[in-house]
Amino acid sequence: MDFSTTERVLTVRKLAREFLTREVEPIESGIAAHGWSGLDERLAPVRERARETGIFAPHMPEELGGAGLTLLEQAQLSEELGRNLLGHYVFNFAAPDVGNMEVLHAFGTQQQKERWLVPLVRGEIRSTFLMTEPEHAGSNPVWMSTIATRDGGGWVLRGHKWFATAADGASFAVVMAVTDPGADNPYARASMFIVPTDAEGFELIRNISVMGHVGDGWMSHGEVMLHGVRVPDENMLGPSGDGFKLAQTRLGPGRIHHATRWIGVCEHALDMMCRHAATRELSPGRMLGTKQTVQEWIAESRAEIEAARLLVLQTAWKIEQHGEFREDVSLIKFHVANTMQRVLDRAIQVHGALGVTDDTPLAFWFSHERAARIYDGPDEVHKAVVARRILKAYGLDLKSARGDD
Ligand SMILES: Cc1cc2nc3c(=O)[nH]c(=O)nc-3n(C[C@H](O)[C@H](O)[C@H](O)COP(=O)(O)OP(=O)(O)OC[C@H]3O[C@@H](n4cnc5c(N)ncnc54)[C@H](O)[C@@H]3O)c2cc1C
Repeated sequence: MDFSTTERVLTVRKLAREFLTREVEPIESGIAAHGWSGLDERLAPVRERARETGIFAPHMPEELGGAGLTLLEQAQLSEELGRNLLGHYVFNFAAPDVGNMEVLHAFGTQQQKERWLVPLVRGEIRSTFLMTEPEHAGSNPVWMSTIATRDGGGWVLRGHKWFATAADGASFAVVMAVTDPGADNPYARASMFIVPTDAEGFELIRNISVMGHVGDGWMSHGEVMLHGVRVPDENMLGPSGDGFKLAQTRLGPGRIHHATRWIGVCEHALDMMCRHAATRELSPGRMLGTKQTVQEWIAESRAEIEAARLLVLQTAWKIEQHGEFREDVSLIKFHVANTMQRVLDRAIQVHGALGVTDDTPLAFWFSHERAARIYDGPDEVHKAVVARRILKAYGLDLKSARGDD
């Protein structure tokens, strides 16, 4: 395996770091005073300048206006961007746009790419992804009520979705809906559609309050009703019945992007932890960092971050070399999310009361990123995927074996 840092990665990381320090950190540090509202407007001119750096939409090919980085290179850049609260959004590398771009690029028709993908890559519009429904367990994605029925030359969508990240202000939604409820294979029952958010019957009911924070724009999570929204045939994304196939394609690299962003969060938190430990006096001349407990937190965090990074880079490398590695992707999903929670928790503890204020990004990350153990599949589901593959090698097939439940 070779995931050494190439010249190109060193260059793009340096470029991103300098840009974020110069252009974004002043906005980031003003969030405590000014709040999260209206960030889209404040960041619009910054995103325009980020586009000129040549590393905007780093995951998209250059001919579309992206930077054309490989998955491994994206992973290493993503960590740099993740150190800043706004880094991924500023460089047009944030969920759900990043996943929607990947799906449109892989499966969109020429017409869909021109209409939706090109402006999305250029950062001129935003998008959202509608799969989860409040009435059904999202961890069992084949169970959904949103239905698309044939109507003349198109489809009519009816359903109720929530946790549609960035729905507020999005121009279109990629929607999962059941098109063939009678299909024997439950994974062949749903299809994906591109639904303009200004279509008649598309209602954003509310931006959901998450951990005491009602975001707007790109920082929101919406509840949406589809009241018989009509879309033409050409708005189906990929073949009919292939919704889950497309969703899986979206989630593989998506989990690499998330995990590397979380490693960036960890690095930022550890840096803050060390600075505070080295400068905070418990009594005149006696630094916090002289306490063995604090030293232990620093050492454990360093070891856990290094291990998490290697695991993610190994997964990105395997995907690049051999295609999808479901077990590895599940491993990094729960492992890195939990590493991040532990490192953030230690960093907050080291900062004392300051750690729970909004004067530093730690409290926001700690509360908001608690969701990392839930979105894109809860820990328990990913652990079951890993254990199932391992136990199969020992002759226990958990798909057919009887368990407690
Ligand atoms: C911040 C955030 C952003 C999100 N963004 C989007 C988005 O943009 N678009 C979208 O469509 N969805 C989005 N989601 C939804 C997310 O994908 C779902 O929350 C997730 O799939 C889990 O579904 P659920 O919430 O319905 O939990 P449920 O499926 O009801 O599960 C509840 C709990 O049960 C346990 N559990 C579930 N299955 C198992 C199992 N097999 N074994 C053991 N325990 C189990 C887990 O502990 C789980 O947390 C987002 C969620 C969050 C929190």
